[in-house]
Amino acid sequence: MAGTVFVSGGSGYIAGFLIRQLVEQGWTVHTSIRDLVKESAVRASLGVDDSRVKFFAADLMGDAGWAEAMAGCSHVAHVASPLPASAPRHEDELIVPAREGALRALRAAKATGVKRFVMTSSMAAVAYGHGPGKSRFTEDDWTNVDSPDAYAYVKSKTLAERAARAWVAEQGGGIEFCTVNPVLVLGPLQSGDYSTSLEAIKKMLEGALPGLPNFGFGVVDVRDVADMHVRCLTAPDMAGERFLCSGPFLWMREIADILRAGLSPQARKVPKRRLPDWLVRLSARFDPVVRQVIGELGHERDADTSHARTKLGWTARPAEDSILDTARSMIELGIVKV
Ligand code: NAP
Repeated sequence: MAGTVFVSGGSGYIAGFLIRQLVEQGWTVHTSIRDLVKESAVRASLGVDDSRVKFFAADLMGDAGWAEAMAGCSHVAHVASPLPASAPRHEDELIVPAREGALRALRAAKATGVKRFVMTSSMAAVAYGHGPGKSRFTEDDWTNVDSPDAYAYVKSKTLAERAARAWVAEQGGGIEFCTVNPVLVLGPLQSGDYSTSLEAIKKMLEGALPGLPNFGFGVVDVRDVADMHVRCLTAPDMAGERFLCSGPFLWMREIADILRAGLSPQARKVPKRRLPDWLVRLSARFDPVVRQVIGELGHERDADTSHARTKLGWTARPAEDSILDTARSMIELGIVKV
């Protein structure tokens, strides 16, 4: 099955891998970027046949361009959403573009007769604000945005997914809507413009961390995230579906062990010593980035992916491959000096 598909945020990490896989499978891709000035750079990093990808300008914060970009498309993957490296001054800087952008994309999809709409949500919309006793999550779980655990990005993804589902239920007409909810996305890079999700590996490799805090993440490979999107675009009966997209949960000390075992001398700056929780809590008082994620300390959030495996036939590659491919790409592209 192939045709014409719209992918929002073509400059992004996940969208780049998704566009490549779609073109390989015979699709023609329409994609949006905020400003067409970036088109040639994005085309260069995509490295696919230029005639198979068409660029349009559209911002999550404005109506212009969305309907033109989706004209002639039967399928949509709405991937764009803000993912900043630092804490915003106000949570609305993330919540408003995430939520309003999703609704803009949905309205344009309905107006242009799109049949299937796949939205990139997140584990952030699933696994926060449940208290320390819960560590395993399924598609039935929803983040509690009123919890102190829910920082701005977590709220933005939860409120955007909820708003999109409510809109589809009330006004979606015949659109088949589903979400892909990934954990931390790692894997190879195609350019020096990398997603915030790779920041932890960069900091470990360049010795920017004084030790290893007791943080952990579910890890999934960008190629497998793209593959799940393709499956959601093409599998039958997707209306209302939600899929957790995850490999294993790993503590930072386990990620550090994988880097050391796989890279030997190139991992010499990766810290070995564990940072005590009290020290991490103290540093959160002074560092807004640490403060934002302090609720993650010692908190395991493991995703049950049996639904994706059964319904989509999806599998995740070993996390070691994703972690080492991230590191090798960063070294090859000169993003980190080891
Ligand atoms: P990314 O590389 O930062 O991509 C984000 C994309 O969103 C970029 O194309 C960016 O455009 C676009 N964007 C942001 N604000 C926008 C705006 N106001 N108008 C139009 N476009 C805007 O991050 P990614 O990792 O590929 O993330 C893609 C999606 O996956 C997001 O929805 C994110 O929440 C979700 N996700 C990511 C992870 C992860 O670990 N990476 C995990 C779970 C879910 P510019 O290039 O112009 O900034």
